[in-house]
Amino acid sequence: MYALSHLAALVKADDLAAAVAKLPADAGIYPRSVVKAQNCVLAMARDDHGKCLLLAAPDREALTDGFDGDISSGDGIVAMQAPLTHDHAANLRQVLDWTAPVSLRHRRTTVGFGDRLGLATAGHLRAIQGYQVSPVLAQQSIRELTLTKRTYPIVVDDATFLVFQEGYRDGYGADGDHLKTLADIDVALDAGMPMITLDLTEVLHPEAEDFSDSELDAAFENLPADFRQHVLDTYAGKTFTCGDSQIGFSEQDAKLCAVMYVDAVRFTPEVYRHLKARRGDAFDLELSIDETTAPTVPSHHLFIISELVEQGVILNSLAPRFIGEFQKGIDYIGDLGIFEQQFKVHCQIAQAYGNYKISVHSGSDKFSAFPIVGKHTDCRLHLKTAGTSWLEAARVLTVKEPALYRDLHQAAFDGLDQALKLYHITADFDKIPKLDTLTDEQLPDLMEMVEARQLIHITYGYLLNEPSIRPRFFAAMHKHEETYYQFLVKHFRRHLDALGIPPR
Ligand code: ZN
Repeated sequence: MYALSHLAALVKADDLAAAVAKLPADAGIYPRSVVKAQNCVLAMARDDHGKCLLLAAPDREALTDGFDGDISSGDGIVAMQAPLTHDHAANLRQVLDWTAPVSLRHRRTTVGFGDRLGLATAGHLRAIQGYQVSPVLAQQSIRELTLTKRTYPIVVDDATFLVFQEGYRDGYGADGDHLKTLADIDVALDAGMPMITLDLTEVLHPEAEDFSDSELDAAFENLPADFRQHVLDTYAGKTFTCGDSQIGFSEQDAKLCAVMYVDAVRFTPEVYRHLKARRGDAFDLELSIDETTAPTVPSHHLFIISELVEQGVILNSLAPRFIGEFQKGIDYIGDLGIFEQQFKVHCQIAQAYGNYKISVHSGSDKFSAFPIVGKHTDCRLHLKTAGTSWLEAARVLTVKEPALYRDLHQAAFDGLDQALKLYHITADFDKIPKLDTLTDEQLPDLMEMVEARQLIHITYGYLLNEPSIRPRFFAAMHKHEETYYQFLVKHFRRHLDALGIPPR
């Protein structure tokens, strides 16, 4: 149990901030979490084994309702130590409303910080301090949920507790990422997630790109007559001006867009109306077409958004697939000049059709592309990251727990084949030096190496479920919590600086 004398000092304080400042470092209480609601002090605390909520009040009746835990009394107060359960997270969101996720549709710059471990949020919050950025802290795809054996309520609860721990009150988002069906969207909405990233992969028809002219004509003739007429009237032989870009459609271009996107421009309005019915205007809809085989050419982007705007759909953001390679956890691969030309046109389309944000997926570590991204969006953008925070956790092990890192690295090779089925990676893993040739001091260098980063990056699901790794990993991360936060701060400030995000 945590020392009652420390809690008593907080309960009895006239000046809570001054009393918090006097808490000794070994009190186990996160100073930024401490808050008084009515007569009850609430705080987040940790010991060597884990974390809990602490409640303390002059008497038992004054303890905030809705929490259960071990009670003790003394020093003129009653205190409760409550575990970090789902019910307690839900109650915390009721009592302290800033711990609940909100829509960020009016925020200019947002960054998605996927936290697969449920441990990184505090580092993310410290990283954005001083920058004009709003964070999406809870963000997982179904694939990530499956691989980590988490659920949307768990993802939101983990963010809730760490937002409370850090005393962050400026509002954060929660993103049900890469969802493809209304059923999955409902699971995310039920967990209170205001942002939905609709992945159109399953309603796209990319095979049309390889059709011959006669095959394309035949596929087009199969579409409903009024849609065909509308597409030909609106796009065939027409040129659209967005900013200083001209985007033209031949008749074949128009037919190709119709065939590729006919279902996408029907399904998206259905999802939009569903979100509106469930959340009013308090939601952020992102459209994702980034997991397709070919880059999204500007005319296709324009076709999709123009069709959606006509049906009254308001997007918060759209993620095209950009030219070049956006592989996980490493810098951009490709010609930056060509990337900039196309990126600029995507931005101009977004500005012309409702000024939604351009969303950059697999957005971590693209340091050479960030200045271009920041410049052409004027920082009106969403940057989505996830695995890079897991890599920073691995970096903690390379520095603090070399023996555990060596085991984890070795185990990663066992999970590699399975992971390569899910992630598009071109790394040559044979380039990674054998661990027995490296001293402990050299292990952190692996985190600067593309091949080693990708090895660890994509095998997280296997590693987190490996019984010889999982408990040791989480115990080590609890022990080295502050180191993890420091690494995350350093890593993400590099991102924000390269994007040119202005200071607050
Ligand atoms: Zn994506």
